[in-house]
Amino acid sequence: MPQLPVLIIGAGVAGLSAASHLRAAGIEYLIVEASARIGGRARTVMLGSDAFDLGASWLHDAARNPLVALAREDHATIIDSDAVRTRRVLIGQTPATASELANRAAAWERFDQTASAAPRDIALASAIDSLRADPWTASIEAWEACQIAAADPRDFSVVDWRINALEGQNLALQGGIGAFVERSLGRRAGPVHLGVPVRAIDWRDGITAKTDHGSIKASACIVTVSTAALSRIALTPSLPISTEGLPMGTLTKIALRASGAERLGLRPDESVTARIERDEPMMSCIAWPGGADHAVIFIGGPPAQALSREGEAATLDFVRTRLRHWFGNTADKAFGETIVSNWSEDEWHGGSYAYARPGHAGDRAILGAPLADGRLIIAGEATATDGLAGTVAGAWNEGKRAAATVQAALSRRA
Ligand SMILES: Cc1cc2nc3c(=O)[nH]c(=O)nc-3n(C[C@H](O)[C@H](O)[C@H](O)COP(=O)(O)OP(=O)(O)OC[C@H]3O[C@@H](n4cnc5c(N)ncnc54)[C@H](O)[C@@H]3O)c2cc1C
Repeated sequence: MPQLPVLIIGAGVAGLSAASHLRAAGIEYLIVEASARIGGRARTVMLGSDAFDLGASWLHDAARNPLVALAREDHATIIDSDAVRTRRVLIGQTPATASELANRAAAWERFDQTASAAPRDIALASAIDSLRADPWTASIEAWEACQIAAADPRDFSVVDWRINALEGQNLALQGGIGAFVERSLGRRAGPVHLGVPVRAIDWRDGITAKTDHGSIKASACIVTVSTAALSRIALTPSLPISTEGLPMGTLTKIALRASGAERLGLRPDESVTARIERDEPMMSCIAWPGGADHAVIFIGGPPAQALSREGEAATLDFVRTRLRHWFGNTADKAFGETIVSNWSEDEWHGGSYAYARPGHAGDRAILGAPLADGRLIIAGEATATDGLAGTVAGAWNEGKRAAATVQAALSRRA
């Protein structure tokens, strides 16, 4: 069995980044990918003539997002999502008034201050318990935990929330982030061996990875799969830390194609949310993004997880009932064809992105720490410690870090 310098497992953003950086350093590598496509949780599909991102759709925190420079280099058309966005916040079926919105903004301020002041790494829900009497608290909690972090607020580390609270400008790419990753990052990374799932890694003496198509021997290995996918790979010896402190949360995205002329009075890029009670499922909607012919619905956290288990019909039923509640029966006429993401039930991802459980905010760093003198490294959105965990930017930075670590380890051995 010939021995390769570096094996990269997974061709999502982190794997493609590791490959691009090794390639630039002139180090030989092989990337294997379990599924039939590259990009992982960055995936664009078409709905009619519209591009729809089933996974990542924004380049968050643009000022320090490394993919913004790559998009510019490749002349991608960049859309300033924040500049085009308008917001409608409903209380029941009625848009909140200016004074209600001011109360909401003040409640958000108190939420941030109270959660940030938590003395220990407790659950976000516990950290803001003193604010329960405020009518906006449940909605802010669901937004921060479920819609943004895909997490359960009762099981979500307040320290992890604080470290990874995304600031700054959000950009989108014309044609979709998934398409950009496949085209631009794929070109930088070079050829990928598709349909090659890794089932086991023995890292006792060099690296031996068992795949469905035989074993691969390598001097070093970069593993970029999600924490759920990692827990299914048999490692010998096992990793110093389990992935239980970093479970995969669920964020479900649904595209609803506009049917005929009915637009529910929503402007392009208008976002809609409603005030909710504690434990009521939250749903948000962005109408006709960039003038497209569809609306995008988001459901995150435990409600999304439960609906994902029940399946697509249950998810769509929930969405249609909620839209009818917001807009009346005309909502039924407004939408035709649909696409529903289901990352939790996808065997190669097992969820949308990882969040840390209370007391486990430090697990990202431990999981990503180099093993075997830098010859084995776990790297992906879940191991990002730069405040960009759960994003394509964090995944890209982790792929770069892993490539540099492995390069240093190989040069020590040479
Ligand atoms: C619904 C949703 C919305 C999101 N929105 C945003 C957003 O707007 N902005 C943002 O920045 N981020 C967003 N994200 C997060 C972002 O998509 C991820 O953080 C990022 O794509 C993760 O990249 P990765 O390389 O770490 O992992 P992955 O993309 O999971 O790549 C890992 C690869 O490994 C493969 N694999 C798994 N198991 C094996 C195995 N045993 N053998 C070989 N290969 C294997 C997988 O098929 C996959 O291709 C979103 C994610 C989801 C799901």
